[in-house]
Amino acid sequence: MLIADTYPRQSGVDALHYTFRLSFSDTSDELQGEASIDIRFLADGISEVVLDLDGMTVTAVSPGTYNHSAGRLHIAITPSKRYERRKFTVRYHGKPGGGLRIIKNKYNDRVFFSENWPNKARYWLPMIDHPYDKATSEFLITAPAKYQVISNGLLQEETDLGNGFRLTHWKQSVPISSWLNAIGIAEFSVHHAGSVKGIPLETWVYRQDRETGPRWFEPDSRAAIEFFSEYIGPYSYEKLANVEAAGFGGGTEHASAIFYGEKNILERAGTGLIAHEIAHQWFGNAVTESDWDDVWLSEGFATYFTLLFIEHSQGHDAFVAGLSESRSRIFDMEKTNPEWKVRHSNLSDMKRVLNRIIYQKGAWTLHMLRSRIGDAAFQKGIREYYVRYQNLNATTADFERVMEEASGQKLGWFFDQWLNRSGSPMLKGSWSWDAAAKKVMLEMEGSPGYRLPLEISIDGHVYGIELVQGQQRFSFNSDKEPQEVKLDPGTKALIQASFLRSAKLP
Ligand SMILES: [Zn+2]
Repeated sequence: MLIADTYPRQSGVDALHYTFRLSFSDTSDELQGEASIDIRFLADGISEVVLDLDGMTVTAVSPGTYNHSAGRLHIAITPSKRYERRKFTVRYHGKPGGGLRIIKNKYNDRVFFSENWPNKARYWLPMIDHPYDKATSEFLITAPAKYQVISNGLLQEETDLGNGFRLTHWKQSVPISSWLNAIGIAEFSVHHAGSVKGIPLETWVYRQDRETGPRWFEPDSRAAIEFFSEYIGPYSYEKLANVEAAGFGGGTEHASAIFYGEKNILERAGTGLIAHEIAHQWFGNAVTESDWDDVWLSEGFATYFTLLFIEHSQGHDAFVAGLSESRSRIFDMEKTNPEWKVRHSNLSDMKRVLNRIIYQKGAWTLHMLRSRIGDAAFQKGIREYYVRYQNLNATTADFERVMEEASGQKLGWFFDQWLNRSGSPMLKGSWSWDAAAKKVMLEMEGSPGYRLPLEISIDGHVYGIELVQGQQRFSFNSDKEPQEVKLDPGTKALIQASFLRSAKLP
């Protein structure tokens, strides 16, 4: 079954690079923009290039003639030759209706922060606004000189223009998806924290937070960059900046310039949030879902790799506590949203791109995969998946293929049952002691249609079983009556189970 979201892809058009020249002022919330787009054609005879751009006024496009309607900028061109490259320039202006907020921050200072997730780049940047077409990009921002400007990639230039304005130029040389482009303009305090694994680490917080910002961000960031680099593979980008930002909560993982909502940071401990956004630099950013149906490849991965970082930095008990909490949240969510699945089927309504089950059950799917194929095969597969798709796009099928190769196991049934099915399996089980036969007897009844590998511990000895029919019995030799029989002692199964000692013999 081919599953794909409904974005209108242009198979003959490949965006390679975007250059955005944007001017901002303190006297108006309008931006003046000029975008240059480098395109490579993948076929002969393409006579139209379409960019997303919603709510802005276009004043000129060259070369070509254009028609701007319903959030799409259609550029009619002379027919292409295969592998030909051309550059288009779009001049436009307007007040962004989304994607870029021009607001007052918590100190009542004027600030400008973008948030393109998931498809709001189009409200201020003419782009192919979908993750499938990655491109490099650069921003040349003119803004009042009192501000500092953060964006993706490396700082190329800062020039005071002598008229109260400053030009700041950032360039990202690694291709990324549209939502990962970002700018922030504010009165920042910028702290250069040296490098981690050769990657410059920076902290950008409001000037009022200059004392606390570096302390809050830098220790966890260093540890997370080190851990993910060693576990998965090298970091993909030219720096990592943690940025305090206004207008939203939580964090957004923009490539090399992570934004954190100003409300929560600097007050609460935030290892989980920092690790989540940094994990996204590997999964979501460097390896990106080619289709919104597979958004779990971003959020499920960032959630599980945060737990792996917690296991690494705080120990196994903290990891298990995180898994248990995540599992309870899944069961709670499934009570009120029984139809939620980890993968979408042909997503068209972008308001529904995320639901919380994608994070938690996606993470649990990775956890169960690791338990099934073992730590070594799991890490080998993860490293190979990263090498193969770094700075490219991947699908669930691509991930499945790599994990099958790494483990030597067929895993189609596994991904299908955990990603494409709503709800979680239920299980009712009981155990009893047959003194005459010297056996522990187990009677299990699970949701039909699931294949459930499970662990049972009998006085601390762990046995593996697999429930493949609705109802099954198992027996284990035991010389003496067991003191304790536990189901899933290692927190490895996503099942809602009741498991008790039975009074009677089965
Ligand atoms: Zn996330």
